[in-house]
Amino acid sequence: MGGLIRLLTWLALGYFLWYLVRNYQRKQDSLRNQRNQAKPRAPSLIVKCKQCGLHLPQSEAVAEDNEWFCSNDHRRLWLGRPHN
Ligand SMILES: [Zn+2]
Repeated sequence: MGGLIRLLTWLALGYFLWYLVRNYQRKQDSLRNQRNQAKPRAPSLIVKCKQCGLHLPQSEAVAEDNEWFCSNDHRRLWLGRPHN
């Protein structure tokens, strides 16, 4: 009988742990979903430098006349040459 009780104890313990893990994962998933809903836009939009074609996050890019540049130097270079 002792072996059966030990087995049942392990089964109960295993089920309890599995239950905890599943609950934890569900909580993480719902948290992630809430965060995604709070931020519908992509956190870092990639833009292309008009001067050299480099791709970089919008937060690090320089804007001018609806165009994006990787740096102020390239913005000035592009503005300083004739273009259409
Ligand atoms: Zn550039």
